[in-house]
Amino acid sequence: MSKWQTIRPALYAAVLLAFNLAAAAAAQTATVELDAREAPRHVLHAHLVVPARPGPLTLVYPKWIPGEHGPTGPLNGVVGLHFKSQGQELEWRRDPLEMFAFHLDVPAGATAVEADLDFVPPVGEGGFSAGPSVTQELAVISWNQVVLYPQGRPSDQLTYQASLRLPAGWSYATALPVTEGSGDGVRFGPVSLTTLVDSPILAGSHLAKVALPTGEGPAHEIDIAADSAAALELPAGFAEAYARLPEEAGALFGARHYRHYQWLLSLSDHVEHFGLEHHESSDDRTWEKTLGGEGRRRGLASLLSHEYVHSWNGKYRRPAGLATPDYQPPMVGELLWVYEGLTQHLGLLLAARSGLWTPEYYRERVALIAARLDNTPGRAWRPLGDTAVAAQILYPSPTEWRAWRRGTDFYDESVLVWLEADATIRRQTQGSRSLDDFCRRFHGGQSGPPAVHPYTLDEVVNTLNEVAPFDWRGFFRDRIDKVEPRAPLGGIEADGWRLVYNDTPNQGVKDQEEQNDRHDWTFSLGLTTDKDGKIVDVIPGLPAAQAGLSPGMKLMAVNGRNWTPEAVQAALRASKTAPEPIEIAAQDGESVRTYRLDYHGGERYPHLERDPGRPDVLTEVLKPLAVGR
Ligand SMILES: [Zn+2]
Repeated sequence: MSKWQTIRPALYAAVLLAFNLAAAAAAQTATVELDAREAPRHVLHAHLVVPARPGPLTLVYPKWIPGEHGPTGPLNGVVGLHFKSQGQELEWRRDPLEMFAFHLDVPAGATAVEADLDFVPPVGEGGFSAGPSVTQELAVISWNQVVLYPQGRPSDQLTYQASLRLPAGWSYATALPVTEGSGDGVRFGPVSLTTLVDSPILAGSHLAKVALPTGEGPAHEIDIAADSAAALELPAGFAEAYARLPEEAGALFGARHYRHYQWLLSLSDHVEHFGLEHHESSDDRTWEKTLGGEGRRRGLASLLSHEYVHSWNGKYRRPAGLATPDYQPPMVGELLWVYEGLTQHLGLLLAARSGLWTPEYYRERVALIAARLDNTPGRAWRPLGDTAVAAQILYPSPTEWRAWRRGTDFYDESVLVWLEADATIRRQTQGSRSLDDFCRRFHGGQSGPPAVHPYTLDEVVNTLNEVAPFDWRGFFRDRIDKVEPRAPLGGIEADGWRLVYNDTPNQGVKDQEEQNDRHDWTFSLGLTTDKDGKIVDVIPGLPAAQAGLSPGMKLMAVNGRNWTPEAVQAALRASKTAPEPIEIAAQDGESVRTYRLDYHGGERYPHLERDPGRPDVLTEVLKPLAVGR
């Protein structure tokens, strides 16, 4: 027997084993064929094959979507649901208590269940992935919209192979690995259900892939789909400017937990506007004409920066209560002031450090955040921590009476809290350490593919203590858990600045007015209206609310003149010297009444002003970290 001959049986056995393992793996792999050729008609068709054994089976539709922090799976968009096995239609029954669960009986001899479903994205209102997501020219497809999976199975342990067909002439971008693509069809590599749901598709007839010149290391790309070719016109130096964002993030965290990173940016006035984070990509949606407008570009910088920071803070490091094994168990939002709040802080910080925002603009935005929160009477009853716990009901809460109800304040208020944490570390260590050191310890580690490391408040406190020993538990208890009528301004003040008001317009207010089609007189009259003069909100305790105006009323006249934003501005300017109150006629239903606003402060906007008695630490905080900058 030759040496070769002795090896042969072993080799044969190995080949056989490999074949059996591959066959077993294939048998365990679910497939989802997504036909998006009718996306412009607002219909997606999905065909799934899910491995199954004979007997009772419950398939579930993803309910709690990572990053959305609520039971927001767009269940109402699922129509035309049919199940089959061995060519026979199966009866299904929705669970009477859990609307997202479908009960089936799998017949003897079957190894799989087939499901056909259509997904009809809404055309009107809706939050996150339950919002409008397709137009004639583009589609953002979140796989959670079109998948079912066996109840109780961890999403890491389920393998899905997806394929996609698009309208003729459309192209696509995604972080999913591609196995093969031809014509209008593409097949993606088998991945865990976790990775599939984490990897949305951006597709459209006008799609540009902008590679960022970041040099060595993982590739970074901004993929942009728009409702028009004109909207894709990039401002000069766009790629070079955005390349500084990954450079600054790398310098801050010291490691990257992705193999490549893609911003999937959709520019349309007809999709829901938000950002949703993923490990290796983000779903970023904003107005069609964003790239052409300076204010909207500043908004874009903070959106892309925020969602990108989530790759570290939110995806790689995640509060244990938000790191659920699959999409059915409820998530616990109590640490969202870290998950979203620290991300909000670092997102603004990196926008400034990478030069996408000027330091002046950063200060305008922080002044606006501080002033808004300092004029939020809801703080008198609701601690910040409760806005995190109640996130799932606050995201979809109405805009009216927001200042009294409070909204998802764990984003913006945490900017102030983390600025103060940074100032505290710098003070405790005589300037030798900062929050950057916390980020390197907490979010850094070894670079590599996506992974999730859950944490608790204890680990946040312990890591801060390693950086700078301090009563961090007490620090957060005072700022997160306690009712506190005034906003936490200690960080701004320790950094050598203070919140002031004057009649110079705040650039952040102007940008937000433009973006949201609103008129904002929050800091003078305590009043915000839409572009037609309908009151969006009033601030309890400030002149508009004190005079009896309330959300939903429509302004008709100001000081005897027809309502226009200019008439309000004129009345504000005159208020400084006029002894009489400002008279506003407003319509509420069928009634029109006149309201007298006893206000004499003129135009009033927040800003940060240097405190000459303290060193300017904030300017240091905003300086670029990346080598060579
Ligand atoms: Zn976020």
